[in-house]
Amino acid sequence: MQLYNTLTKKLEEFTPQSPEQVSLYTCGPTVYDYPQIGNWIAYVRWDTLQRVLKENGYKINWVMNITDVGHLVSDADEGEDKLEKGARREGKTAWQIAKFYTEDFEKGLKELNIEQPTHLEPATRHIQAQIDLVKALQEKGYTYAIDDGVYFDTSKVNDYGKLARLNLDSLKEGARVEANPQKRQPSDFALWKFTPEGVKRDMEWDSPWGKGFPGWHIECSAIAMEFLGDTLDIHAGGIDHIPVHHTNEIAQSEAATGKPFAKYWLHGSFLNIDGSKISKSLGNSITLQDIIRQGFSPLDLRMLYLQSHYRTHSNFTLGGLKAAQQRRLGLQAFADLRYQLKDGGSVQAADFDQVRQVVLEELSDDLHTPQALAALSDLQNGADTGLIDPSAAESFVDFLKFLDRVLGLNLLESEDITDEQKRLIKDREQARANRDFASSDKLRDKLENQNLTVRDTPMGSIWQRAS
Ligand code: AMP
Ligand code: ZN
Repeated sequence: MQLYNTLTKKLEEFTPQSPEQVSLYTCGPTVYDYPQIGNWIAYVRWDTLQRVLKENGYKINWVMNITDVGHLVSDADEGEDKLEKGARREGKTAWQIAKFYTEDFEKGLKELNIEQPTHLEPATRHIQAQIDLVKALQEKGYTYAIDDGVYFDTSKVNDYGKLARLNLDSLKEGARVEANPQKRQPSDFALWKFTPEGVKRDMEWDSPWGKGFPGWHIECSAIAMEFLGDTLDIHAGGIDHIPVHHTNEIAQSEAATGKPFAKYWLHGSFLNIDGSKISKSLGNSITLQDIIRQGFSPLDLRMLYLQSHYRTHSNFTLGGLKAAQQRRLGLQAFADLRYQLKDGGSVQAADFDQVRQVVLEELSDDLHTPQALAALSDLQNGADTGLIDPSAAESFVDFLKFLDRVLGLNLLESEDITDEQKRLIKDREQARANRDFASSDKLRDKLENQNLTVRDTPMGSIWQRAS
Protein backbone atom coordinates (compact mmCIF):
# COMPACT_ATOMS: atom_id res chain seq x y z
CA MET A 1 0.00 0.00 0.00
CA GLN A 2 1.05 3.57 -0.54
CA LEU A 3 0.16 6.34 1.89
CA TYR A 4 0.91 10.04 1.89
CA ASN A 5 2.95 10.84 4.98
CA THR A 6 2.59 14.41 6.26
CA LEU A 7 5.82 13.99 8.18
CA THR A 8 7.91 13.49 5.03
CA LYS A 9 5.48 15.18 2.63
CA LYS A 10 5.79 12.14 0.38
CA LEU A 11 3.78 9.25 -0.87
CA GLU A 12 5.43 6.27 0.77
CA GLU A 13 5.24 2.52 0.56
CA PHE A 14 3.53 1.42 3.76
CA THR A 15 5.57 -1.00 5.86
CA PRO A 16 4.29 -1.69 9.38
CA GLN A 17 6.69 -2.53 12.19
CA SER A 18 5.19 -6.00 12.53
CA PRO A 19 4.30 -7.81 9.30
CA GLU A 20 0.90 -8.97 10.54
CA GLN A 21 -0.48 -6.25 12.76
CA VAL A 22 -0.90 -2.54 12.15
CA SER A 23 -1.20 -0.12 15.05
CA LEU A 24 -3.49 2.75 14.15
CA TYR A 25 -4.48 5.72 16.27
CA THR A 26 -7.08 8.25 15.19
CA CYS A 27 -8.15 11.29 17.20
CA GLY A 28 -11.74 10.94 18.30
CA PRO A 29 -14.57 13.34 19.05
CA THR A 30 -14.95 15.88 21.80
CA VAL A 31 -18.26 14.78 23.25
CA TYR A 32 -19.89 18.08 24.15
CA ASP A 33 -22.39 18.39 21.31
CA TYR A 34 -23.72 16.52 18.26
CA PRO A 35 -20.98 16.03 15.66
CA GLN A 36 -21.57 17.89 12.40
CA ILE A 37 -21.14 16.26 8.99
CA GLY A 38 -17.57 17.63 8.75
CA ASN A 39 -16.62 15.65 11.85
CA TRP A 40 -18.21 12.51 10.45
CA ILE A 41 -16.24 12.65 7.20
CA ALA A 42 -13.09 12.25 9.26
CA TYR A 43 -14.32 9.08 10.96
CA VAL A 44 -15.57 7.55 7.69
CA ARG A 45 -12.18 8.20 6.10
CA TRP A 46 -10.21 6.45 8.84
CA ASP A 47 -12.71 3.63 8.82
CA THR A 48 -12.00 3.28 5.10
CA LEU A 49 -8.28 3.29 5.83
CA GLN A 50 -8.56 0.44 8.30
CA ARG A 51 -10.89 -1.49 5.99
CA VAL A 52 -8.36 -1.22 3.16
CA LEU A 53 -5.51 -2.23 5.45
CA LYS A 54 -7.48 -5.32 6.44
CA GLU A 55 -8.17 -6.11 2.79
CA ASN A 56 -4.42 -6.01 2.26
CA GLY A 57 -4.07 -8.78 4.80
CA TYR A 58 -3.19 -6.88 7.97
CA LYS A 59 -4.77 -7.28 11.36
CA ILE A 60 -5.55 -3.92 12.91
CA ASN A 61 -5.25 -2.63 16.41
CA TRP A 62 -7.26 0.56 16.03
CA VAL A 63 -7.44 2.94 18.96
CA MET A 64 -9.64 6.02 19.09
CA ASN A 65 -9.97 8.32 22.06
CA ILE A 66 -13.08 10.07 23.25
CA THR A 67 -12.23 13.55 24.49
CA ASP A 68 -14.44 13.97 27.52
CA VAL A 69 -12.25 16.36 29.48
CA GLY A 70 -9.62 19.02 28.98
CA HIS A 71 -10.35 20.27 25.44
CA LEU A 72 -10.60 24.00 25.99
CA VAL A 73 -12.55 26.35 23.80
CA SER A 74 -9.28 27.76 22.49
CA ASP A 75 -6.54 25.42 21.27
CA ALA A 76 -4.12 27.69 23.16
CA ASP A 77 -5.08 26.20 26.52
CA GLU A 78 -7.32 29.11 27.39
CA GLY A 79 -11.01 29.48 28.00
CA GLU A 80 -13.61 27.10 29.23
CA ASP A 81 -13.49 23.30 28.97
CA LYS A 82 -15.85 22.36 26.12
CA LEU A 83 -17.51 19.75 28.33
CA GLU A 84 -18.18 22.30 31.07
CA LYS A 85 -19.57 24.63 28.44
CA GLY A 86 -21.91 21.88 27.20
CA ALA A 87 -22.95 21.20 30.78
CA ARG A 88 -23.84 24.85 31.35
CA ARG A 89 -25.76 25.02 28.06
CA GLU A 90 -27.90 22.02 28.98
CA GLY A 91 -28.11 22.42 32.73
CA LYS A 92 -26.38 19.07 33.30
CA THR A 93 -23.08 17.91 34.75
CA ALA A 94 -20.04 17.45 32.54
CA TRP A 95 -20.31 13.70 33.27
CA GLN A 96 -23.88 13.59 31.99
CA ILE A 97 -22.90 15.53 28.88
CA ALA A 98 -20.01 13.14 28.21
CA LYS A 99 -22.26 10.09 28.62
CA PHE A 100 -25.01 11.46 26.42
CA TYR A 101 -22.79 12.54 23.51
CA THR A 102 -20.59 9.45 23.74
CA GLU A 103 -23.70 7.30 23.30
CA ASP A 104 -24.83 9.52 20.44
CA PHE A 105 -21.40 9.14 18.82
CA GLU A 106 -21.55 5.35 19.12
CA LYS A 107 -25.01 5.39 17.54
CA GLY A 108 -23.64 7.51 14.66
CA LEU A 109 -20.76 5.08 14.14
CA LYS A 110 -23.29 2.29 13.62
CA GLU A 111 -25.53 4.38 11.37
CA LEU A 112 -22.63 5.31 9.10
CA ASN A 113 -21.41 1.72 9.20
CA ILE A 114 -18.09 2.75 10.71
CA GLU A 115 -16.58 -0.35 12.26
CA GLN A 116 -16.04 -0.32 15.99
CA PRO A 117 -12.42 0.55 16.80
CA THR A 118 -10.57 -2.16 18.72
CA HIS A 119 -10.40 0.30 21.62
CA LEU A 120 -12.62 3.37 21.98
CA GLU A 121 -11.25 5.04 25.08
CA PRO A 122 -12.55 8.03 27.02
CA ALA A 123 -9.81 10.30 28.39
CA THR A 124 -11.40 10.27 31.85
CA ARG A 125 -10.76 6.52 32.10
CA HIS A 126 -7.02 7.05 31.63
CA ILE A 127 -6.18 9.85 34.03
CA GLN A 128 -3.44 7.86 35.77
CA ALA A 129 -1.67 7.10 32.48
CA GLN A 130 -1.74 10.82 31.69
CA ILE A 131 -0.39 11.74 35.12
CA ASP A 132 2.37 9.16 34.70
CA LEU A 133 3.35 10.61 31.34
CA VAL A 134 3.53 14.14 32.76
CA LYS A 135 5.64 12.78 35.62
CA ALA A 136 8.04 11.18 33.15
CA LEU A 137 8.32 14.48 31.30
CA GLN A 138 8.90 16.32 34.55
CA GLU A 139 11.68 13.90 35.55
CA LYS A 140 13.38 14.54 32.22
CA GLY A 141 13.18 18.29 32.70
CA TYR A 142 10.65 19.16 30.03
CA THR A 143 8.06 20.80 32.23
CA TYR A 144 7.55 23.91 34.31
CA ALA A 145 4.68 25.06 36.47
CA ILE A 146 2.98 28.45 36.35
CA ASP A 147 -0.12 29.76 38.09
CA ASP A 148 -2.67 27.86 36.03
CA GLY A 149 -0.90 24.60 35.32
CA VAL A 150 2.08 22.48 34.38
CA TYR A 151 3.39 23.26 30.90
CA PHE A 152 5.61 21.58 28.34
CA ASP A 153 8.67 23.63 27.45
CA THR A 154 8.85 23.38 23.66
CA SER A 155 12.27 25.07 23.54
CA LYS A 156 13.74 21.89 25.03
CA VAL A 157 12.89 19.93 21.88
CA ASN A 158 15.21 20.43 18.92
CA ASP A 159 12.78 19.42 16.22
CA TYR A 160 9.63 20.97 17.71
CA GLY A 161 7.12 21.63 14.93
CA LYS A 162 8.66 19.20 12.43
CA LEU A 163 5.24 17.93 11.35
CA ALA A 164 3.99 21.36 10.44
CA ARG A 165 7.47 22.68 9.59
CA LEU A 166 6.91 25.33 12.23
CA ASN A 167 9.66 27.73 12.95
CA LEU A 168 9.87 28.55 16.65
CA ASP A 169 11.51 31.92 16.08
CA SER A 170 8.84 33.05 13.71
CA LEU A 171 6.25 31.77 16.15
CA LYS A 172 7.80 33.97 18.81
CA GLU A 173 7.97 36.99 16.59
CA GLY A 174 4.58 36.41 15.06
CA ALA A 175 2.82 35.74 18.33
CA ARG A 176 -0.13 38.02 18.61
CA VAL A 177 -1.39 39.07 22.00
CA GLU A 178 0.12 36.42 24.20
CA ALA A 179 -2.74 34.71 26.00
CA ASN A 180 -0.74 33.66 29.00
CA PRO A 181 2.24 35.91 29.76
CA GLN A 182 3.70 33.37 32.19
CA LYS A 183 4.33 30.89 29.40
CA ARG A 184 8.00 30.80 28.38
CA GLN A 185 7.22 30.35 24.68
CA PRO A 186 3.94 30.93 22.85
CA SER A 187 4.12 27.33 21.62
CA ASP A 188 4.35 25.85 25.13
CA PHE A 189 1.25 23.93 26.06
CA ALA A 190 -0.55 22.70 29.14
CA LEU A 191 0.01 19.16 30.35
CA TRP A 192 -1.99 19.53 33.54
CA LYS A 193 -4.29 22.42 34.38
CA PHE A 194 -5.11 23.38 37.95
CA THR A 195 -8.66 23.76 39.13
CA PRO A 196 -8.81 27.52 39.84
CA GLU A 197 -8.92 28.63 43.46
CA GLY A 198 -12.44 28.58 44.87
CA VAL A 199 -13.86 26.60 41.94
CA LYS A 200 -15.34 23.10 42.06
CA ARG A 201 -15.20 21.44 38.66
CA ASP A 202 -17.41 18.46 37.76
CA MET A 203 -14.30 16.71 36.51
CA GLU A 204 -11.13 17.07 38.54
CA TRP A 205 -8.51 14.73 39.97
CA ASP A 206 -5.71 14.85 42.50
CA SER A 207 -2.23 14.86 41.06
CA PRO A 208 1.33 15.47 42.30
CA TRP A 209 0.86 19.09 41.17
CA GLY A 210 -2.51 19.71 42.77
CA LYS A 211 -6.16 19.20 41.91
CA GLY A 212 -6.93 19.67 38.26
CA PHE A 213 -7.40 17.98 34.91
CA PRO A 214 -5.21 16.90 32.00
CA GLY A 215 -4.49 19.09 28.99
CA TRP A 216 -6.08 18.00 25.73
CA HIS A 217 -2.95 16.80 23.90
CA ILE A 218 -1.64 14.54 26.65
CA GLU A 219 -4.66 12.23 26.48
CA CYS A 220 -3.88 11.17 22.91
CA SER A 221 -0.23 10.41 23.66
CA ALA A 222 -1.07 8.54 26.87
CA ILE A 223 -3.90 6.48 25.39
CA ALA A 224 -2.05 5.75 22.15
CA MET A 225 1.08 4.54 23.93
CA GLU A 226 -0.86 2.61 26.57
CA PHE A 227 -2.52 0.48 23.90
CA LEU A 228 -0.09 0.57 21.00
CA GLY A 229 3.39 0.99 22.46
CA ASP A 230 5.86 3.85 22.06
CA THR A 231 5.84 3.94 18.26
CA LEU A 232 2.62 3.68 16.28
CA ASP A 233 2.48 2.63 12.66
CA ILE A 234 -0.13 5.20 11.69
CA HIS A 235 -1.57 8.24 13.40
CA ALA A 236 -4.40 10.01 11.59
CA GLY A 237 -6.56 13.06 12.08
CA GLY A 238 -7.83 16.26 10.49
CA ILE A 239 -5.46 18.83 8.91
CA ASP A 240 -6.49 21.31 11.58
CA HIS A 241 -4.51 19.20 14.03
CA ILE A 242 -1.16 19.53 12.26
CA PRO A 243 0.14 22.79 13.77
CA VAL A 244 -0.95 22.36 17.38
CA HIS A 245 -2.49 19.11 18.53
CA HIS A 246 -0.38 16.61 16.59
CA THR A 247 2.72 18.77 16.84
CA ASN A 248 2.34 18.68 20.61
CA GLU A 249 1.53 14.98 20.70
CA ILE A 250 4.81 14.33 18.88
CA ALA A 251 6.83 16.68 21.11
CA GLN A 252 5.67 15.21 24.41
CA SER A 253 5.65 11.56 23.32
CA GLU A 254 9.11 11.67 21.79
CA ALA A 255 10.48 13.66 24.73
CA ALA A 256 9.16 10.97 27.08
CA THR A 257 10.31 7.89 25.16
CA GLY A 258 13.18 9.07 22.97
CA LYS A 259 11.57 7.16 20.11
CA PRO A 260 9.56 8.27 17.07
CA PHE A 261 5.89 8.55 18.06
CA ALA A 262 4.38 7.48 14.73
CA LYS A 263 5.85 6.36 11.43
CA TYR A 264 3.07 7.56 9.16
CA TRP A 265 0.98 10.67 9.78
CA LEU A 266 -2.18 10.94 7.69
CA HIS A 267 -4.32 14.05 7.52
CA GLY A 268 -7.76 14.54 6.09
CA SER A 269 -8.77 17.88 4.64
CA PHE A 270 -11.93 19.75 5.42
CA LEU A 271 -15.50 19.48 4.25
CA ASN A 272 -17.29 22.73 3.50
CA ILE A 273 -21.01 23.28 3.22
CA ASP A 274 -22.18 25.21 0.16
CA GLY A 275 -18.62 26.47 -0.17
CA SER A 276 -18.43 27.86 3.36
CA LYS A 277 -16.58 26.72 6.42
CA ILE A 278 -18.83 24.79 8.81
CA SER A 279 -19.43 26.80 11.93
CA LYS A 280 -22.07 27.19 14.57
CA SER A 281 -22.02 30.95 14.12
CA LEU A 282 -22.87 30.62 10.40
CA GLY A 283 -25.75 28.34 11.38
CA ASN A 284 -24.70 25.69 8.84
CA SER A 285 -23.72 23.01 11.28
CA ILE A 286 -25.63 20.06 9.78
CA THR A 287 -25.79 16.89 11.87
CA LEU A 288 -26.33 13.28 10.88
CA GLN A 289 -29.84 13.40 12.32
CA ASP A 290 -30.62 16.43 10.10
CA ILE A 291 -29.69 14.29 7.09
CA ILE A 292 -31.80 11.35 8.26
CA ARG A 293 -34.76 13.65 9.00
CA GLN A 294 -34.66 14.79 5.38
CA GLY A 295 -35.28 11.22 4.26
CA PHE A 296 -31.73 10.19 3.39
CA SER A 297 -29.98 7.05 4.52
CA PRO A 298 -26.76 7.65 6.48
CA LEU A 299 -25.18 5.50 3.76
CA ASP A 300 -26.02 8.22 1.21
CA LEU A 301 -23.78 10.48 3.25
CA ARG A 302 -21.15 7.76 3.37
CA MET A 303 -21.31 7.56 -0.44
CA LEU A 304 -20.93 11.33 -0.66
CA TYR A 305 -17.84 11.13 1.55
CA LEU A 306 -16.33 8.32 -0.53
CA GLN A 307 -16.72 10.39 -3.67
CA SER A 308 -13.95 12.73 -2.59
CA HIS A 309 -10.33 11.89 -1.90
CA TYR A 310 -9.40 12.38 1.74
CA ARG A 311 -6.66 14.89 0.97
CA THR A 312 -8.76 17.19 -1.21
CA HIS A 313 -11.25 19.67 0.12
CA SER A 314 -14.79 18.54 -0.40
CA ASN A 315 -18.00 20.43 -0.50
CA PHE A 316 -21.43 19.42 0.73
CA THR A 317 -24.56 20.56 -1.05
CA LEU A 318 -28.06 19.14 -0.87
CA GLY A 319 -27.89 18.49 -4.63
CA GLY A 320 -24.63 16.65 -4.15
CA LEU A 321 -26.20 14.49 -1.45
CA LYS A 322 -29.13 13.66 -3.76
CA ALA A 323 -26.69 12.68 -6.50
CA ALA A 324 -24.77 10.51 -4.01
CA GLN A 325 -28.07 8.90 -3.02
CA GLN A 326 -28.81 8.10 -6.67
CA ARG A 327 -25.35 6.67 -7.07
CA ARG A 328 -25.76 4.47 -4.02
CA LEU A 329 -29.17 3.27 -5.19
CA GLY A 330 -27.66 2.52 -8.60
CA LEU A 331 -24.97 0.41 -6.96
CA GLN A 332 -27.62 -1.27 -4.82
CA ALA A 333 -29.66 -2.07 -7.96
CA PHE A 334 -26.54 -3.62 -9.45
CA ALA A 335 -26.09 -5.72 -6.29
CA ASP A 336 -29.74 -6.77 -6.45
CA LEU A 337 -29.09 -8.31 -9.87
CA ARG A 338 -27.81 -11.30 -7.86
CA TYR A 339 -31.45 -12.22 -7.46
CA GLN A 340 -32.05 -11.79 -11.19
CA LEU A 341 -29.34 -13.68 -13.05
CA LYS A 342 -30.20 -14.30 -16.69
CA ASP A 343 -29.06 -17.16 -18.92
CA GLY A 344 -26.85 -15.75 -21.65
CA GLY A 345 -26.03 -12.64 -19.60
CA SER A 346 -22.93 -10.96 -20.97
CA VAL A 347 -21.21 -10.29 -17.63
CA GLN A 348 -18.98 -13.20 -16.70
CA ALA A 349 -17.02 -14.29 -13.62
CA ALA A 350 -13.72 -12.95 -14.99
CA ASP A 351 -15.20 -9.43 -15.23
CA PHE A 352 -15.71 -9.32 -11.46
CA ASP A 353 -12.22 -10.55 -10.71
CA GLN A 354 -10.70 -7.95 -12.98
CA VAL A 355 -12.65 -5.01 -11.55
CA ARG A 356 -12.03 -6.18 -8.02
CA GLN A 357 -8.32 -5.95 -8.68
CA VAL A 358 -8.61 -2.41 -10.04
CA VAL A 359 -10.74 -1.26 -7.09
CA LEU A 360 -8.29 -2.67 -4.58
CA GLU A 361 -5.35 -1.12 -6.42
CA GLU A 362 -7.00 2.30 -6.35
CA LEU A 363 -7.86 2.03 -2.66
CA SER A 364 -4.40 0.78 -1.79
CA ASP A 365 -2.92 3.78 -3.61
CA ASP A 366 -3.41 6.36 -0.85
CA LEU A 367 -7.14 5.58 -0.58
CA HIS A 368 -8.28 6.69 -4.01
CA THR A 369 -11.97 6.23 -3.25
CA PRO A 370 -13.30 8.34 -6.17
CA GLN A 371 -11.27 6.26 -8.64
CA ALA A 372 -12.37 3.05 -6.96
CA LEU A 373 -16.01 4.06 -7.38
CA ALA A 374 -15.37 5.10 -10.98
CA ALA A 375 -13.86 1.68 -11.70
CA LEU A 376 -17.25 0.18 -10.88
CA SER A 377 -19.13 2.21 -13.46
CA ASP A 378 -18.29 0.17 -16.59
CA LEU A 379 -19.12 -3.07 -14.85
CA GLN A 380 -22.37 -1.61 -13.54
CA ASN A 381 -23.35 -0.35 -17.00
CA GLY A 382 -22.44 -3.68 -18.56
CA ALA A 383 -24.53 -5.57 -16.04
CA ASP A 384 -27.36 -3.12 -16.45
CA THR A 385 -27.64 -3.70 -20.18
CA GLY A 386 -26.13 -7.16 -20.72
CA LEU A 387 -27.17 -8.71 -17.38
CA ILE A 388 -25.28 -11.34 -15.44
CA ASP A 389 -24.91 -14.95 -16.38
CA PRO A 390 -25.78 -17.54 -13.68
CA SER A 391 -22.34 -19.09 -14.13
CA ALA A 392 -20.94 -15.89 -12.56
CA ALA A 393 -23.16 -16.15 -9.46
CA GLU A 394 -20.44 -17.10 -7.02
CA SER A 395 -17.91 -14.55 -8.32
CA PHE A 396 -20.59 -11.90 -8.20
CA VAL A 397 -21.42 -12.53 -4.54
CA ASP A 398 -17.72 -12.69 -3.68
CA PHE A 399 -17.26 -9.38 -5.44
CA LEU A 400 -20.14 -7.80 -3.50
CA LYS A 401 -18.71 -9.14 -0.24
CA PHE A 402 -15.42 -7.49 -1.17
CA LEU A 403 -17.17 -4.17 -1.92
CA ASP A 404 -19.02 -4.34 1.40
CA ARG A 405 -15.76 -4.94 3.22
CA VAL A 406 -13.94 -1.97 1.70
CA LEU A 407 -16.72 0.53 1.02
CA GLY A 408 -19.12 -0.33 3.85
CA LEU A 409 -22.25 0.36 1.82
CA ASN A 410 -24.09 -2.78 2.95
CA LEU A 411 -24.88 -3.92 -0.59
CA LEU A 412 -25.54 -7.47 0.53
CA GLU A 413 -28.09 -6.53 3.16
CA SER A 414 -30.97 -6.23 0.71
CA GLU A 415 -33.36 -9.12 0.47
CA ASP A 416 -34.97 -10.69 -2.56
CA ILE A 417 -38.48 -9.53 -3.46
CA THR A 418 -41.39 -11.64 -2.23
CA ASP A 419 -43.02 -14.49 -4.18
CA GLU A 420 -46.12 -12.33 -4.50
CA GLN A 421 -44.05 -9.54 -6.08
CA LYS A 422 -42.41 -12.06 -8.40
CA ARG A 423 -45.85 -13.21 -9.45
CA LEU A 424 -46.94 -9.62 -10.18
CA ILE A 425 -43.87 -9.18 -12.38
CA LYS A 426 -44.64 -12.43 -14.28
CA ASP A 427 -48.28 -11.36 -14.71
CA ARG A 428 -47.15 -8.02 -16.05
CA GLU A 429 -44.83 -9.73 -18.54
CA GLN A 430 -47.69 -11.94 -19.65
CA ALA A 431 -50.04 -8.97 -20.03
CA ARG A 432 -47.42 -7.21 -22.17
CA ALA A 433 -47.00 -10.34 -24.30
CA ASN A 434 -50.77 -10.32 -24.78
CA ARG A 435 -50.58 -6.61 -25.67
CA ASP A 436 -52.97 -5.98 -22.77
CA PHE A 437 -51.36 -2.66 -21.86
CA ALA A 438 -54.13 -1.54 -19.52
CA SER A 439 -53.41 -4.53 -17.26
CA SER A 440 -49.64 -4.24 -17.55
CA ASP A 441 -49.80 -0.55 -16.56
CA LYS A 442 -51.96 -1.39 -13.57
CA LEU A 443 -49.48 -4.03 -12.44
CA ARG A 444 -46.62 -1.60 -12.92
CA ASP A 445 -48.42 0.91 -10.67
CA LYS A 446 -49.01 -1.76 -8.08
CA LEU A 447 -45.30 -2.64 -8.04
CA GLU A 448 -44.33 1.01 -7.85
CA ASN A 449 -46.51 1.37 -4.79
CA GLN A 450 -44.38 -1.37 -3.29
CA ASN A 451 -41.20 0.62 -4.01
CA LEU A 452 -40.27 -1.44 -7.09
CA THR A 453 -39.65 -0.06 -10.55
CA VAL A 454 -39.54 -2.53 -13.40
CA ARG A 455 -37.73 -2.25 -16.70
CA ASP A 456 -37.95 -4.57 -19.66
CA THR A 457 -34.96 -6.17 -21.33
CA PRO A 458 -34.78 -8.71 -24.17
CA MET A 459 -34.08 -11.32 -21.47
CA GLY A 460 -37.08 -10.42 -19.32
CA SER A 461 -38.05 -7.87 -16.65
CA ILE A 462 -35.63 -6.50 -14.12
CA TRP A 463 -36.79 -4.87 -10.87
CA GLN A 464 -35.06 -2.19 -8.92
CA ARG A 465 -35.88 -0.67 -5.56
CA ALA A 466 -36.76 3.00 -5.85
CA SER A 467 -35.35 3.97 -2.47
P1 AMP B 1 -13.73 17.70 17.59
O1 AMP B 1 -14.86 16.82 18.00
O2 AMP B 1 -14.08 19.13 17.54
O3 AMP B 1 -12.49 17.44 18.42
O4 AMP B 1 -13.36 17.35 16.08
C1 AMP B 1 -13.32 16.04 15.66
C2 AMP B 1 -12.61 15.89 14.35
O5 AMP B 1 -13.37 16.42 13.27
C3 AMP B 1 -11.26 16.56 14.28
O6 AMP B 1 -10.33 15.54 13.96
C4 AMP B 1 -11.34 17.55 13.15
O7 AMP B 1 -10.16 17.49 12.39
C5 AMP B 1 -12.50 17.03 12.34
N1 AMP B 1 -13.26 18.09 11.66
C6 AMP B 1 -13.91 19.13 12.22
N2 AMP B 1 -14.54 19.87 11.28
C7 AMP B 1 -14.28 19.27 10.08
C8 AMP B 1 -14.65 19.56 8.73
N3 AMP B 1 -15.43 20.58 8.40
N4 AMP B 1 -14.19 18.71 7.76
C9 AMP B 1 -13.41 17.66 8.07
N5 AMP B 1 -13.04 17.35 9.32
C10 AMP B 1 -13.46 18.14 10.33
ZN1 ZN C 1 -5.44 13.52 19.28
